[in-house]
Formats: sequence, C-alpha cells, structure tokens
Amino acid sequence: MFADLSRKLLENPIQFAGWVIVVGLLLQVALMLVGSARRAHFEKRRAWLERERLALEIRAARKRIQTVEQAKAAWNGIRKFKVARKVPECADTFSFYLRPHDGKALPPFKPGQYLTFQLNLPGRTKPVVRCYSLSDCARADYYRVTIKRCPPPADTEHPAGVGSSFFCDAVKEGDILDVKAPNGHFYLDLEKERPAVLIAGGVGITPMVAMANALFDAKSSREVWFFFGARNRGEHMLKQEIDELAAKFKNLRLHVCYSRPGPDDLKDRDFHHEGRVTVDLMKRLLPSNNYEYFLCGPGAFMESITDDLRAWGVPDAWVHFEAFGPASVKRAASPAVKASLTQAPFIGMEVTFAKSGKKVWWDQAFSSLLELAESKGVKIDAGCRAGNCGSCLVAVKSGTVEYLGGHGADAETGSCLTCICKPKGNLVIDA
Ligand SMILES: Cc1cc2nc3c(=O)[nH]c(=O)nc-3n(C[C@H](O)[C@H](O)[C@H](O)COP(=O)(O)OP(=O)(O)OC[C@H]3O[C@@H](n4cnc5c(N)ncnc54)[C@H](O)[C@@H]3O)c2cc1C
Repeated sequence: MFADLSRKLLENPIQFAGWVIVVGLLLQVALMLVGSARRAHFEKRRAWLERERLALEIRAARKRIQTVEQAKAAWNGIRKFKVARKVPECADTFSFYLRPHDGKALPPFKPGQYLTFQLNLPGRTKPVVRCYSLSDCARADYYRVTIKRCPPPADTEHPAGVGSSFFCDAVKEGDILDVKAPNGHFYLDLEKERPAVLIAGGVGITPMVAMANALFDAKSSREVWFFFGARNRGEHMLKQEIDELAAKFKNLRLHVCYSRPGPDDLKDRDFHHEGRVTVDLMKRLLPSNNYEYFLCGPGAFMESITDDLRAWGVPDAWVHFEAFGPASVKRAASPAVKASLTQAPFIGMEVTFAKSGKKVWWDQAFSSLLELAESKGVKIDAGCRAGNCGSCLVAVKSGTVEYLGGHGADAETGSCLTCICKPKGNLVIDA
C-alpha cells in the first residue's frame, strides 16, 4: 500500500508537495488548539486560585473587622440591658430578648457563648450571679437567652432554683438587668470545615440553636446533624424555630427524640425517635464518626454520650461540651480525671483558708474546694458553680490544685476556680 502511494506521489510531485503543506498546516492547527486548550486550563486554574486567595483575604479581613468591632463594642463589668420581650417557650421556660439600655452597638459573639447576669433579688444583700447561654446567633440589636426554671431535686422539699425562678416569675418586659459581656470557650468556629454534630438534652439546647442559626446565617456548606432529646412536646422548647430552620437549611438533619411521648405527641410531626439520644442512634444515622461534636445537657446525658463517643473512637479533641452545673462537669470529665476523683487513696491534705484563719483536712466526700469552704463557713462568691463565670476565683498562696474538667473562665496563674477544683496536696488559698 505504501509502495503504491509513493509511486503515485512520485508520478505527481506537485500533488505530493500540496499534501505535505496540508498535513503540516493541519499539524500546526492541532498544536495551536492543544496549546490554547492548555493555556485556557492554566488560565482557569490561575483564576480559581486567585478567587480562593481573594476569598481567604476577604475572610481574614472580615475576621479582623469583627474583632475590632467586638473590641469596640465589648464592655467591661456590668452593662444595663432592657428586657424588650419575654416569650413563653414551653412549660416553665421563657425566652428573654435583651436590648442594650444605652442604645449603643452590641458586640458580636461566638455561637455557644453565654451571658453572665448579676441579679439583685429582693431580700438579698449581694447579687446572685448566674450564666445563661445565648440562644440565638449574633443579631444586630438584641441578645436572647432562654431560661428554664430549675426544679428542686426529686423527693426533696427544697425550693426551686432562685435565679431561674426569678427570671420565670418576676422579670418582666421593660425591666433592666445587669449583664456581663458574652464569654465562654464552648463555641462553634464558623471558619472550620469539619461537619458538626450538635447534641442537646433539655435546656442544653440553647447554645445549639445559636450554633445552628449561625451556620445558616453564614450560608455554611458544612453538614450539620442536630440531635435533641426531651421528655415530650411539653418540654420541647424553641420547637417552631428549629422546625422552620430545618425546613430552610438544607445541610441540617434534625433528629428529635422523646423519651416519654404524650398521648397527643405525633411521630414525624413532633419527634422522630421514641427513646433517648444515644451514640447508638448516631452510629445508625451518621455515615462515619468523622465529625466535630458539641454537646450540652444534664449530667447523666453528658456522661453517657462522652463515654460512648470515646468508645466509638472519637478523639476527645473533637468533642466539646458545656456544663450547666458542676454535676455535668464531673460526669463529662475524662476517664483519668474521673478515676482520680473516685479511686485516689485518701492521703492527708491540709487546706488553709488564709483570710479566715481556718485550717481543715481535705475530705473526698466534697466535690470541690468551694464545697469544702462552704461546709466550714468560709465565704467564697459563687455564680455558675461550673467553672464558667469566674466568681469563685481565689488566689493560691501555696500548693497546687487539680481541675475536674474543661472550664470556661480563665483561671489566672496563681489562682484557682474553687467550684471545680480540688487540692493536689497541702494548699493555702486566699479566702
Ligand atoms: C455556661 C452556662 C450556661 C447556662 N445556660 C443556661 C441556659 O441557657 N438556660 C438555662 O435555663 N440554664 C442555663 N444554665 C444554668 C443556670 O446558670 C443556672 O445554673 C440554673 O438556672 C440554676 O440556677 P438557679 O439559681 O435557678 O438555681 P439554684 O438556686 O442555684 O439551685 C440549684 C438547685 O439546687 C436546689 N436547691 C435549692 N436549695 C437547696 C438546698 N438547700 N439544698 C439542696 N438543693 C437545693 C434547687 O431546687 C435547684 O435544683 C447555664 C449554666 C452555665 C454554667
């Protein structure tokens, strides 16, 4: 065939030259096309990299502006807030919408943080300090907290909690409250990418609603799972708001568990699963354990979830929790801390309260230095009793302390948060 072709070409050299030119031209065109396709590809990639770089710069600039705004609008100490609205949410639970009385800007905050209130209760000489999580994400003109009356312990005659009862019974629209700036180390970082699982029991839902709202507002593409456990519809706070959010926020997968549904509670309208929120349920629903977990709820709830997440192989660093009280702190503590609390052999440790001039032996029956101090009549201020508000901070004159778990308030070097620590040996504190 080639011999035939070469013979034909030799017979007609002009035609041969023509073919050579045509093939050459075709090759050139093909090379140009490949070259321009490669150039277009590189251009596209360069433009994409440039867009990413710009997006990063914009994000960083926004963060800087936010930090500056936050610093400008933040306040030290107490600021007066007016109760703009008080909205009943469900049994014994109210939301309070708070506007700054001075009418100035509100600093933004991180979803999951809390406000600290100094409550001037009738008949008390000193204010009662209580922390309440912000239950909505940062809005231009109000903060919101959602407060449930703290019932007395089962089978006791004790009165219900003083702070929460004051909010539920006495605080009304138009009242002015003393509030400290948003604070706390339990928050969801909107800059992170890892998918999130929000896990709430009862009133522990408040910081999770702030987180879910913040993710929606930020148009986050993060996958978000939201597990909420309540007894029944009567305790299902912020239901309408969360249902509406789940309907419009396509990344959010909401799973509500009722442990004791009422006769009128309807599956798939009010709740999705009968029973408690458990890690077994998560194992059935989540494609893997590769998530960042945020949890808040009663002590037993926190203990079972944190233990089971560990057993599922979730690193402690991916599990963040907020404790609304010391019981929750203790129960969510790491196994090492729990063991040190329950199994440590008793060795005589002397605690000296320097200001009061009292020397006592540490007793394992007490769960914190604060409890020991109170039992001996040594006065230490206390607010949240969970290591968050910093009211119980006392200087350590000598010795060291051991903490029960993560805490929100910063314990300066040389001081300790007495509500969540115990002595590690002989100790002298300035109380
Ligand atoms: C960071 C943080 C965020 C929080 N966020 C929220 C939130 O969003 N919403 C919310 O509702 N709560 C929240 N809390 C909990 C809140 O701060 C209070 O701890 C809660 O409202 C109880 O305070 P209280 O003054 O009502 O109860 P307290 O008066 O402190 O009483 C606590 C318990 O002790 C019982 N009691 C009373 N007298 C006695 C006695 N003599 N002996 C034994 N027991 C007694 C009471 O009945 C009650 O059960 C949060 C806590 C923290 C630390």
